[in-house]
Amino acid sequence: MTVAADRDAAFLAGIGEVADAIAAVHADDVDRQARFPVEAVDALRERQALSAFVPESLGGAGVSLRAIAEACFTLGRRCGATAMVFAMHQIQVATIVRHLGDSDHFEDYLRRLVSEQRLIASATSEVGTGGDMSKSVAALTPVDGAPDRRSFEKQGPTVSYGGHADDLLTTLRAHPDAQPGEQVAVLHAAAETTLEPTGTWDPLGMRGTCSPGFVVRAEVDAEQALPTPFSTIATETMVPISHLLWAHVWLGIATDAFDRARAFVRAAARRAPGAPVPQAVKLSHTLTELSLLRATVHSALDAFLAADEDPECLSTMAIALQFNNLKLAASEQAPRVCQSAMAVSGIVGFKNDTPFSVGRHLRDSMSAALMVANDRIHQTNAGLLLIAKEV
Ligand SMILES: Cc1cc2nc3c(=O)[nH]c(=O)nc-3n(C[C@H](O)[C@H](O)[C@H](O)COP(=O)(O)OP(=O)(O)OC[C@H]3O[C@@H](n4cnc5c(N)ncnc54)[C@H](O)[C@@H]3O)c2cc1C
Repeated sequence: MTVAADRDAAFLAGIGEVADAIAAVHADDVDRQARFPVEAVDALRERQALSAFVPESLGGAGVSLRAIAEACFTLGRRCGATAMVFAMHQIQVATIVRHLGDSDHFEDYLRRLVSEQRLIASATSEVGTGGDMSKSVAALTPVDGAPDRRSFEKQGPTVSYGGHADDLLTTLRAHPDAQPGEQVAVLHAAAETTLEPTGTWDPLGMRGTCSPGFVVRAEVDAEQALPTPFSTIATETMVPISHLLWAHVWLGIATDAFDRARAFVRAAARRAPGAPVPQAVKLSHTLTELSLLRATVHSALDAFLAADEDPECLSTMAIALQFNNLKLAASEQAPRVCQSAMAVSGIVGFKNDTPFSVGRHLRDSMSAALMVANDRIHQTNAGLLLIAKEV
């Protein structure tokens, strides 16, 4: 094995332990109480997993994006909320790593992320723009009498683990006169931020992400804005990597739902050796649905890693369409797999307290279509399809 492969393998072995020994054990309680998966996130911190994607030159493990995606899948098989928290954090880390330019401030920050295992939340959605992260209402505003200081106030409708994060990455208009699409991403510590809750979090699924609305207020130094315009960050990193990592989480959830349905069919076969198990055919249909999801997610990851060799390629409309389609297809397919798994095991899958329960899986997977509304993505695609030369 190469050094890079060894590094990825060691990282994934640690993730597997956290998934099986910790995330799985607390998943139902996290879901029932809509509480933050503190045990699993603490265990990820202990294994330095929060800084896994930080390059070795800055003290991180320098694992590959493929390994981060695999980790989202592995955690997703055991606890969807833990996996989604991990995925959302890694999206922010990837954004900083890939777009810090020559900023000493952000290099120092990444070193601190390694030593302190800081957890980063994101506030991209906004009241007034919904899930359209390419537009902001709130602006980064000069502070009177302090040339290097800026302040902002943003209405975030959904800030996952906002109350548990060490830092937040928030999108804003670059200055008070900026157009809605002229944005920057600002990294600010929770300690320098006021988070005023605007609601509660008692949702259908992904309950452990703890994602209520907040008014986010902070005063920051100008250098806390990433030097790359947010439009570039969104195109090259935040949109495709979000869709990739989310889709790996959803694939993990759907795979566990399938595994539970398979365990049900095998148990039925053991109870009556030689007798036909009628649900086995339904299980085969479920596998077909799961295989479609798996192929979609894996081929998109391969395509991203190939395109990433040439950043210009990531800016093409064909690539934008491809990663939007990944999100649309995976978010619709994952609940389909979970529902199919429930149909295999019937009432014992429907009940919440059996080894074959898939209610949590189905509810968690139903958040996928809302996590940036699919209709918004279709609208973006519709515009791109009119002008893209190739799709
Ligand atoms: C579990 C979870 C965690 C999340 N965590 C975060 C987070 O940490 N940070 C963050 O910034 N965001 C997060 N989000 C995303 C955020 O909640 C939503 O994208 C955002 O709040 C938009 O909410 P919305 O669906 O009400 O708004 P909209 O996007 O405005 O959608 C409202 C309704 O309008 C419809 N609609 C919108 N546009 C169109 C259109 N063009 N054509 C037809 N219909 C349309 C939608 O389908 C939907 O039914 C999270 C979402 C989920 C589900």
